[in-house]
Amino acid sequence: MRRAILLKKMSSPCIITLDLEGVLSPEIWISVAEKTKIHELRLTTRDIADYDKLMSHRLKILSLHNLKLSEIQSVIAEMPLLDGARNFLDELRSICQVVILSDTFVEFAQPIMKNLGYPTLFCHNLEVKDDRITGYKLRQQNQKQAAVEAFKNLNFRVFSAGDSYNDISMLKAANVGCLFRATEKLKAEFPQFKAVEEYDDLIVRVKEFSLL
Ligand SMILES: [Mg+2]
Repeated sequence: MRRAILLKKMSSPCIITLDLEGVLSPEIWISVAEKTKIHELRLTTRDIADYDKLMSHRLKILSLHNLKLSEIQSVIAEMPLLDGARNFLDELRSICQVVILSDTFVEFAQPIMKNLGYPTLFCHNLEVKDDRITGYKLRQQNQKQAAVEAFKNLNFRVFSAGDSYNDISMLKAANVGCLFRATEKLKAEFPQFKAVEEYDDLIVRVKEFSLL
């Protein structure tokens, strides 16, 4: 008994890494596609696993339709969070540290971060000239996986949750990875990850993990 208590005290602290779009906020590009009626912008990381291919497609469409950064930012500013996302995140942050790992861009994320109470966010940057998006700069390749590996090197145990292909390497690197509201296709492709649909269920899993 005493030994068990000692071991518990020695277990390393936990950290949660969460995807942003599809987990806390709607998909930015789908919201932009709906608002602008440019349907070619609907494709997301759920549809195309190769992020560079997906972004090249998006930039080509933006240029074709002459869509400015400020126009996209005003769509994002009006975009509500997913139902219950703020309370969910607040509860998670009361359990342990939370870092949002997203493949979105600083220039897009600010209004969403405001609605979420400014949690820690690691993402990328856009290249912009005269309000036109000319390119994008990944802070590093495969940043979600790299962040999880770095946290483990800092002696954290990591619990990760995400909904798309670009989360898989993060989930694989984590001590526990969870799919959240993923497509049936993704769930079938990666049956090794628990698939969760509701925030309450994710909280239960995080609480279990934090007590390990
Ligand atoms: Mg996502």
